[in-house]
Amino acid sequence: MAGQAPVKTVEDIARRAGLRPLVIAIDAGHGGQDPGARGANGSREKDITLKVARELARQVNATPGLKAYLTRDSDFFIPLARRYQLARQHKADLFVSIHADAFSSPTARGSSVFVLSQRGASSQAARWLADQENAADLVGGVRLQDKGDTLASVLLDLSQSATMKASEDMAGQVLAGLKRLGKTHKNDVERANFVVLRSPDVPSMLVETAFISNPDEEARLNDPAHQAQLARAILDGVTGYFSRQPPPGTLYAMQAEARRAGSAGATYGGGQP
Ligand SMILES: [Zn+2]
Repeated sequence: MAGQAPVKTVEDIARRAGLRPLVIAIDAGHGGQDPGARGANGSREKDITLKVARELARQVNATPGLKAYLTRDSDFFIPLARRYQLARQHKADLFVSIHADAFSSPTARGSSVFVLSQRGASSQAARWLADQENAADLVGGVRLQDKGDTLASVLLDLSQSATMKASEDMAGQVLAGLKRLGKTHKNDVERANFVVLRSPDVPSMLVETAFISNPDEEARLNDPAHQAQLARAILDGVTGYFSRQPPPGTLYAMQAEARRAGSAGATYGGGQP
């Protein structure tokens, strides 16, 4: 290290150590001709999701070791499948789709976190495999082309099981973060066959931030302070997960290593990122 400038920030250390940032793909639900749900007092879901997504991206980019990727940063439409394809193209370590819930009863309230259901996963796996373009793609670092259908299917299942496990763990952490913010709609992570969650190899979740159909929650969703708290709750869940399960070659892995060596504070500036 002789001759180099003095180390100033955690980012400097990470860059020098050749660590890659963890890419968090943030998907603002709906957009363009698709306004999503309409609030009791006329707010449009697509506007709320964009504001929360932008705030989350800002907070993510302010967190050492993390980098945000927004599937949309203004008001335009993106087809559902395109959203997770964009996340994969940008080498996302996590995909989180931001939405606001609606229900016929104006009293329904609280946030929810969804992961892909097993049924959705297996039907997607079959389709993925059937698609020649995708069969030539990488899944879990294994090239599927030139493998027999059976082997390819087994590899895909393994990759998808690992992805679903990671999605569930991460979603559980995010739900815990949202519970600290207020009462959630359900007590547990929910499962549904959402198209947007169908990446076979990127852990994915969908966050229903609150019920836009509930006038109180609609007002809170429009409040920048509450948007920031929602983003913080989601980010806390994400960083909590990565601290426990740090992907190799990242700042989180280095910090976990340092904690194991008992020198986190002294060597790396200390604390969780
Ligand atoms: Zn929605």
